[in-house]
Amino acid sequence: MRDFSYLRADSVEAARNAAALPGAMLLAGGTTLVDLAKCGVAEPSAVIDISHIKGLDAIDVSAGRAVIGALAKMSHVADHAEIKGRFPAVSEALWQAASAQLRNMASIGGNLMQRTRCPYFRDPANFPACNKRAPGSGCSAIGGVTRGHAVLGTSEACIATYPGDLAIALVAFDAEVHLGERRLKVEDFFLAPGATAEREHDIRPGEVITAIEIPGSAAARRSTYLKVRDRQSYEFAAASAAVGLELEGDGRTIRDIRIALGGVATKPWRARAVEDALRGKTFDEATVRKASELTMDGAVDHGANHYKIELAPRVVARAILKLGETA
Ligand code: FAD
Ligand code: SF4
Repeated sequence: MRDFSYLRADSVEAARNAAALPGAMLLAGGTTLVDLAKCGVAEPSAVIDISHIKGLDAIDVSAGRAVIGALAKMSHVADHAEIKGRFPAVSEALWQAASAQLRNMASIGGNLMQRTRCPYFRDPANFPACNKRAPGSGCSAIGGVTRGHAVLGTSEACIATYPGDLAIALVAFDAEVHLGERRLKVEDFFLAPGATAEREHDIRPGEVITAIEIPGSAAARRSTYLKVRDRQSYEFAAASAAVGLELEGDGRTIRDIRIALGGVATKPWRARAVEDALRGKTFDEATVRKASELTMDGAVDHGANHYKIELAPRVVARAILKLGETA
């Protein structure tokens, strides 16, 4: 780890000014940044501690939306009564992320900014080839061990999976990220690798995430997050789905449905083909299962991750059917 200077910012403006300096990185809960610095992936020249900025941890659920401050802890948001009641998929995604200790430390802004868990990315000493870490150096994963890698949104430059849970629910419900003056859809905030694998987020030097905003809707109120993984705790998703459902007054016709996928794509992935196939249809198991097969349209595997192409449609179908059982 190289030497760095440390600055404690006491306002968003101070954080923005400091973050604009070359090599500066923000520190919130530290649960990702410290790991990345230890393994030699992050080499900040200055660490700007934003964890003491007052007011940035507020959670406000009113006027038909939720605004969650960037410094709100994952555990606080997961356990917030109105988030649980009006955005259950958001609460469930957070509860199923990481561990209790991490959730108590980690912030919402830091969660959105977490980097991929591709093992080659996190091991620069043994795997110098990684386009995400060192643009133009190649990709050690392609032709390597790919069990955890993505099947959607990949490119010849990078096949790393987006690892987080919260962002999957945010993308399903059209949430926005606040970056001071600039606001953008969470879906657009995350970038597929294309030829520029090193850019995972649409964030500019000097920008600080101040909040996320989630519009309320009937589909968000009747929603769930299903995460399938190798073990039931402290594990990233093999495949996951955030799903929201709104039925017509007849209780059978699908008025609105939202579906986003985790664990299978290079960024949080909205499954619009499945949504379009179900909107206006009668809710029954056969229809749901048939539409869910569209989940993996355009998927490309790299051998050991082929199972995701079979797994993800089942996860989507299971999540939708579970919602259908709720009143
Ligand atoms: P930090 O480590 O402080 O910062 C992370 C990054 O975000 C840094 O680059 C920092 O500069 C930047 N940053 C922080 N705040 C801001 C801001 N306001 N504006 C702009 N940039 C900012 N996550 C899941 O979703 N699901 C899991 O299953 C899961 N499992 C995990 C298991 C382990 C063992 C670990 C270590 C992590 C796991 N995580 C998981 C990731 C965890 O959720 C993140 O580490 C955490 O959310 C990061 O938040 P933080 O506040 O600690 O961020
Ligand atoms: Fe690096 Fe992406 Fe290849 Fe992993 S998949 S080694 S992150 S370029």
